[in-house]
Amino acid sequence: MLIPTNATTMNLGWLTSASASEARRVILHEFGHALGFIHEHSSPTANIPYDREKVYAYYAQAPNSWDRATVDRNIFLKYSVAETNYSTYDRSSIMHYVVPPELTTNGVGVPFNTELSTIDKQ
Ligand SMILES: [Zn+2]
Repeated sequence: MLIPTNATTMNLGWLTSASASEARRVILHEFGHALGFIHEHSSPTANIPYDREKVYAYYAQAPNSWDRATVDRNIFLKYSVAETNYSTYDRSSIMHYVVPPELTTNGVGVPFNTELSTIDKQ
């Protein structure tokens, strides 16, 4: 999709009420997108054993209030190897969504990453 050069492509306006550490985390993540990074849980190499019904229920709650199609697109979609450049799966990436352990079938989640990982920096 082409976006007009005079159109806004990133909105960080809500960060005025965020703590400095939260603002830093969000800016690192959003500038990752600006550089072309996808969400790490959507990597072709990600293999998170989601408990799908628990995930739908979790994201149906506020503040997300996502329907199932939105959860499918934002959480379960994985990019194909043909349409992206990708690294080995990096659970420490700033681009990874937090995954509460109760949303997986093996009880292993992904922490709330707040720093660039080694692979992010590479
Ligand atoms: Zn993102």
